[in-house]
Amino acid sequence: MKDADVVVLGTGAAGLTAALAAHGHGASVVVLEKAEKIGGTSAWSGGMIWIPNNHHMHDAGIVDSREEALIYLGALSHDMIDPLLAEAFVDAGPEMVKWVEANTPAQFRLVAEFPDYHPEHPGGKAGGGRSLECPLFSYDSLGEHKDRVTVGYNYGTAPITMQESNLGRAVPVQVTAEEMRRRTERDERGCGQALIGRLFKGCLDREIPIVTECRAQALIVENGTVIGVKGDGPDGPFTIAARGGVVLATGGFEWNPDLVRAFLRGPMTTPVSVPTNEGDGLKMSMRIGAALGNMREAWWMPAVEIPGDRGDGRADQHLFAAERARPRSIMVNRAGQRFTNEAANYNAFGAAFHEQDVARFEYSNLPCWFIFDQTHLDTYGFIGTLPGSPAANWVTSSATLTELAMELGIDPDGLTATVDRWNTQVAIGTDPDFHRGESAHDTWWGDPWLKGTPAACLGPLDTGPFYAVEVRSGTLGTKGGPKTDALGRVQNVDGATIPGLYAAGNVMACVFGMTYGGAGGTLAPAMVFGFLGGRDAAQRAASKTS
Ligand SMILES: Cc1cc2nc3c(=O)[nH]c(=O)nc-3n(C[C@H](O)[C@H](O)[C@H](O)COP(=O)(O)OP(=O)(O)OC[C@H]3O[C@@H](n4cnc5c(N)ncnc54)[C@H](O)[C@@H]3O)c2cc1C
Repeated sequence: MKDADVVVLGTGAAGLTAALAAHGHGASVVVLEKAEKIGGTSAWSGGMIWIPNNHHMHDAGIVDSREEALIYLGALSHDMIDPLLAEAFVDAGPEMVKWVEANTPAQFRLVAEFPDYHPEHPGGKAGGGRSLECPLFSYDSLGEHKDRVTVGYNYGTAPITMQESNLGRAVPVQVTAEEMRRRTERDERGCGQALIGRLFKGCLDREIPIVTECRAQALIVENGTVIGVKGDGPDGPFTIAARGGVVLATGGFEWNPDLVRAFLRGPMTTPVSVPTNEGDGLKMSMRIGAALGNMREAWWMPAVEIPGDRGDGRADQHLFAAERARPRSIMVNRAGQRFTNEAANYNAFGAAFHEQDVARFEYSNLPCWFIFDQTHLDTYGFIGTLPGSPAANWVTSSATLTELAMELGIDPDGLTATVDRWNTQVAIGTDPDFHRGESAHDTWWGDPWLKGTPAACLGPLDTGPFYAVEVRSGTLGTKGGPKTDALGRVQNVDGATIPGLYAAGNVMACVFGMTYGGAGGTLAPAMVFGFLGGRDAAQRAASKTS
């Protein structure tokens, strides 16, 4: 393998952005990817990025500012966000978008009106504007490389953008069958496939080598400076030197049970990311004395397991987000009690799974179930089942709530009392217990045709049969790891920079602490710090040769 100015580990949005930024600033670049395919979880994702104060919102006349964005992040910090790193993100975000648009095939546009995830907090945007996505991208333009990108299980290769989905806009749109046919013929893909396809195309255009099935295992250090990487590649063990730096973009540690047990703040049983994210970058950085930060945190995501083999020997894990917000449904614990606002944003929801009953010494809300009625099923369908069709055979159903509770081991009296109270409250259009349907966030994620009203979230459970599925504590990826400075340079345990080492994406100590700012809240810092780190590593290489 040929040495390079910058060696990037990982091909998610963080890694590919770092590679493009390094190359665009004059460096020779090599990218190593452990998996057979390119793109990581980023290629499986919705592909949205959350960039406050971006130029697309300004063009659309939406007001935002550096100050508002910082107020928002500050209001959500719980003392977990370093203000200097928040500033670095807010300042570099709009710059990253402009640079990527000017120098790569990746283009962005608004996912119009998508509210921030805590829109009522100071600085929050209830009317959206900070969430961006790429237009559809034709994989035919990747030529012989078109099958090299990994395809996920939630969005697959769907030829629609987030903005055209029920989630992505105020009024649902219907793409005509003819237009869908045209898109399919050209293998046009939306969401994370569009984002990664475009970044990958940028790497191909620049002839940046990407070596797959190539697992980086150790950093090579000389006099305290990272000068290269060792690993195991398609041709056996390798060593590669990096004159300017190594960028860790290896994703989180969610698939490494020992690291999960060691660091996360509560139970997490169900990662929904690529299984190659096993904490390799974290371990490499720990071995050379990196300071760690935000280790207890993940991008929490409630998940529902769909029994069977999805094609890689694993059961599919459905991201359980919009369903929770829709009417005629609640979530209960084994006491049959509701325990939070079911429509709350998925990341914040994670905390409900970590709540403990101190006296009983058990987790209060694990296991827990999503319960819905026949009208909910008829109206919305349910995970792969279209409206009006029968529920899948892995969904538990019973004629009455009492029978349903007994079958699942839920307290039947608790459940019937909870449903009685829920039905009484929603009849007058309110949820005084947990405030479901009060936030612009909730009403956006609820019934697509009632967006913006509490009715998008509230409705009785009164039509049998009743249905239930277990909901698990999952994650899109962890967000703790080596701490960086404002340029993405990894710091050591004494607070000094480790020369030549950078981190971006879920491998790094995330600048958002516990928070998920809005749709695109994970890919945005991944790309911003990929951009900053890649550029700085290129400049470091240039300064050594000049
Ligand atoms: C269905 C779904 C929808 C989502 N939608 C969104 C969304 O719209 N917006 C948003 O912001 N977030 C979204 N997310 C979350 C988002 O996808 C991730 O947080 C993000 O992709 C992380 O990017 P990354 O570059 O850090 O890691 P990844 O994209 O996971 O890439 C890490 C890569 O590193 C590779 N790697 C690991 N170890 C090594 C090693 N030792 N050597 C070389 N390579 C290695 C891995 O194989 C992987 O390819 C979604 C997630 C899912 C599952």
